[in-house]
Amino acid sequence: MPVSSFLANMLWQYLDNCEAMIDDEFMNKLANIATELKTGGIDMEFETKCLHAGYTPKNGEPRVLPITQSTTFTYDSTEAIGKLFDLEEAGYFYTRLANPTTGAVEAKIAALEGGVGALCTSSGQAATFLAILNILESGDHLVASSCIYGGSYNLLAHTFQKMGIQVTFVDQDLPLAELQKALQPNTKAVFAETIANPAMRVLDIEKFAQLAHDHQVPFIIDNTFATPYFCRPIEFGADIVIHSTTKYLDGHAVATGGVIVDSGKFPWDNGKFPQLSTPDETYHGIVYTETFGAAAYITKARVQLMRDLGATPSPQNSFYLNLGMETLPVRMDRHFENAMAVAQFIQEQKTIATVTYPGLPGDTSYELKEKYLPRGLCGVISFEITAGRKAAAQWLDALKMVSREVHVADIRTCALHPATSTHRQMSDEELTAAGISPGLIRISVGIENIQDILADLAQAFEQMEG
Ligand SMILES: *Cc1c(COP(=O)(O)O)cnc(C)c1O
Repeated sequence: MPVSSFLANMLWQYLDNCEAMIDDEFMNKLANIATELKTGGIDMEFETKCLHAGYTPKNGEPRVLPITQSTTFTYDSTEAIGKLFDLEEAGYFYTRLANPTTGAVEAKIAALEGGVGALCTSSGQAATFLAILNILESGDHLVASSCIYGGSYNLLAHTFQKMGIQVTFVDQDLPLAELQKALQPNTKAVFAETIANPAMRVLDIEKFAQLAHDHQVPFIIDNTFATPYFCRPIEFGADIVIHSTTKYLDGHAVATGGVIVDSGKFPWDNGKFPQLSTPDETYHGIVYTETFGAAAYITKARVQLMRDLGATPSPQNSFYLNLGMETLPVRMDRHFENAMAVAQFIQEQKTIATVTYPGLPGDTSYELKEKYLPRGLCGVISFEITAGRKAAAQWLDALKMVSREVHVADIRTCALHPATSTHRQMSDEELTAAGISPGLIRISVGIENIQDILADLAQAFEQMEG
C-alpha cells in the first residue's frame, strides 16, 4: 500500500467519525483532499490520469514507473517491522501483499474507476474469486446474471457450489420486481457484467444496484469489456468493480491480470457482514470497518485473502499493465470507431443472419448503450453466418491479416469460430441449445487501418461458399 493510500485511509476514517461535527462544505474539502491523496493526482482529466495517476517521481527519480523486481524490503528495526505486521503503519515487506510497481498500478486504476482503493491479482479469474470470497462464505448465496463470461460461470456454478456458496442465475433483462424474487435472506451480493462477454448485452446498471441495495448487499460488477474510459459503474451505484486486465487495460496481449476496485461507499457495518465489522483474530482483533473506514473491504481483501491465497501479479506484469493503460483512451476510441465500421459492413453482407453490436441502432442493447456508454464500446462483435458451421469455418480459414485466436481485446484484430474451437465437442443441436449457433463468429476488432481490416473481411466473404 503506498504511503499516500495509508494517509488517505486515515483521513477517510477521520471523516467517518467526525461527520456530525463539521459543516458540509468543510467535509467536501476534506473528502477532496482524501481522494487526491488516494489517487496521487490533483483533479486530473481521465486521459491525464492514465499517464500520471499513481506514480509521481521526486527529484532525480525515474520518469517511467520502475519495476521493483524484489520480493522483499528491508527495515531498520524489529519495532518498525512489527508496526507493519500489526497494520499500524503502511509499507512494503513482501511482494505477495504489496509491491511499489503493483501499488502504483492499483492507485492508477482506483483513480480511473473513482474508487478509494484497488487490489491487483494474477488474473481476472482471481479477481472475481477474491472479490466474492471477501464477503461470502459457506452457507451464503449470490445472485448473478446468467449472461456472464464462461470462466466466471464455471467459478460461480461449480467451484463456489463445492465451497458451500449457492448461486442463482437470473435473466438480467427482467424487470426489478421479477429479479427481486431471486434474493434470499442469506443473499450477500449481486453480480453482473457491464457488457456481457461474449453475448455483447449491456446491463441496466442502476437496476442491478437498486436490486442489491434494497436488500442491503453490495453490487459487484465486471467492467472488463467497457473499461473505465467508456463507463465507470461506481457513478451508477456499483459498489465493487472488477476487471480482467488481460483484456483492454493491458490491450497488447502481453500480461494476464485482474483487479478489484472498492468504491468505498458500501456500509459494511449494517449487520450483514461480520467478517468486516467484527474482530479479525489473525491481526490481534482488528475490526476492518473501524480501523480502515471507507477502505475496509479492499484492505481486508489484501491483508487477509491475498495473504492466504497468494494470487499476486508479478511486478513485471504490473509494469506491462501500466504501459498499456497509458494509451487506453486513444486505443479505445480507435477500437470503437473501427468496430462500428466493421459492424455496419458485416450487416450489409447477404450471407449473414444476425450481427450483435450494441453500437448499431436497432441492436437490443442500443438504448442501454446510449445511457451507460454514450461515447463508445469495445471492439467485440458477434455475427452469424447463415449457412452454418462449414461455411463459418471456411470464412475464418480464408482470413489473411486477421488472426485466428482464442482471445479478445487485443490491438490486433482477431476472430474465433466457437463451433470449431472452444465448443468443438458439441453437436449442432447441443450448440443451439446453449445459445451458440453453429455459424457464429466472434471478431475482436483491433486498431489497424480500417481499410485493411475491411479488405481482409471482404475477401474472406468472397471465398466462402454458400
Ligand atoms: C477474460 C475475462 C475474465 C477472466 O479473466 P482472465 O484474465 O482470463 O483470468 C473475466 N471476465 C471477463 C468479462 C473476461 O472477458
